[in-house]
Amino acid sequence: MVRESNYWLSTVEQVQFSARELPASADVAVIGAGFTGLSAARTLAKSGARVAVLEAENVGWGASCRNGGMVLSGLKLGAPTLLSRYGREAAQRMYAASLASIDCVEQIVSEEGIPCDFSRCGHLEVACKAKHFAGFRRAAETTEQVFGHRLRIVPREELAGEIGSGIYYGGMVDELSAGVNPARYVAGLGRAAAKAGAEIYEKTRVTALEPASRDGHSGWTVTTSRGPLHATDVLAATSGYTSGITGGLQKRIIPIGSFIIVTEVLPPELARELSPRNRMIYDSKNYLYYYRLTPDRRMLFGGRAAFFPENQHTVRKSAEILRQGMIKVYPQLRDTKVEYVWGGTLDFAFDIMPHAGKMEGMYFSMGYAGHGVAMATLLGKSMAEAILTGRTENPFAGIPFPTAPLGLYHGKPWFLPLAGAWYKFLDWVS
Ligand SMILES: Cc1cc2nc3c(=O)[nH]c(=O)nc-3n(C[C@H](O)[C@H](O)[C@H](O)COP(=O)(O)OP(=O)(O)OC[C@H]3O[C@@H](n4cnc5c(N)ncnc54)[C@H](O)[C@@H]3O)c2cc1C
Repeated sequence: MVRESNYWLSTVEQVQFSARELPASADVAVIGAGFTGLSAARTLAKSGARVAVLEAENVGWGASCRNGGMVLSGLKLGAPTLLSRYGREAAQRMYAASLASIDCVEQIVSEEGIPCDFSRCGHLEVACKAKHFAGFRRAAETTEQVFGHRLRIVPREELAGEIGSGIYYGGMVDELSAGVNPARYVAGLGRAAAKAGAEIYEKTRVTALEPASRDGHSGWTVTTSRGPLHATDVLAATSGYTSGITGGLQKRIIPIGSFIIVTEVLPPELARELSPRNRMIYDSKNYLYYYRLTPDRRMLFGGRAAFFPENQHTVRKSAEILRQGMIKVYPQLRDTKVEYVWGGTLDFAFDIMPHAGKMEGMYFSMGYAGHGVAMATLLGKSMAEAILTGRTENPFAGIPFPTAPLGLYHGKPWFLPLAGAWYKFLDWVS
């Protein structure tokens, strides 16, 4: 029987954060207690700021405890697109940020002693078509020449050393990427932020935000399900769960469902055969699969089985779609039991780029497009520094943050079935 629940949560002890009354005021109100919000709160509190983290559910409830735990180099968009869109210098800064984001996670994990199985096991991208593999070669060349970073090409004949599947045309490895248990990581980040002095209020939904000055200083009245709060600054860290209270952000972020199954524990020899180097693996399709072994030797297999965000219907449907996908990749798992299935919501901007800056007086960071474990940690920290210094210095701050073409989107993603069909079509023809 497949449990409709998140495997990672079965590995972590739930911690209860502040049940105290909300304070009347704070220097910074952070909306959302995922990687972005907690990383920001930790940095702010360490500098002595009075921080209130306001979370509608509980710490890590959003994508941060539901993801694959892949701590990846690079952005969702490949090197050629970054170069042609933003030019050499800006693209170099963006790529460097992606590498720095992994170091940032590693540093926090080690400084705070977070027991979350962080390991620099590397990632493997596998080519679903011969022409995708040719693209890997070009990407590796560009990445080395322009970004000074080496990716290793693995021809089809050598792929068995990386993956126990015969369906791919070759691969590309980055040894720098890492794996983590995301639920343990986000819980540890919450504890670290609280230890630094941030107050974390769970079950506290922000329901309205209004500019309000006090003693001649600008600020915000933040209305929550537990009462109001005055904050000098606000950081929106709500990613795929962004709502109408920050309408300007909501119409720039598309919430897209992603789903994961996890099998029973595998025998050691079988686990070694499937993933001899224990890589974080994903394929080259638009409608892609991503997969890895968990630290206790289960196969975790994810993908965009349905485009709409998680609900009982999409989660149930995804379990079977993903099982079929997993068996295509690994026929060895035909008789293996799937024990868990769950879903979460990804945050895509219309240009498929992260965005972190200030809009209408409010700080924000989101748009990680499935690369958020590391980038949300880094940009959360960077937005905290922006609030503390008044200078926003990350490489994504100055780029345009587009809304939908022709303004045809106000937060209800009516076009997702069309986008899903379009991506399937692209995978078929390209
Ligand atoms: C299934 C899945 C697999 C993924 N796999 C990977 C992966 O392997 N590697 C990778 O790098 N990335 C992955 N991602 C993406 C990554 O998980 C996210 O980019 C990242 O967790 C975003 O963190 P966040 O803190 O910005 O947002 P979230 O963790 O989503 O947190 C936002 C929080 O805001 C809260 N909130 C929203 N509105 C309000 C409100 N009004 N008041 C109070 N609180 C509010 C929500 O309750 C939520 O807890 C995956 C995502 C999903 C869904």
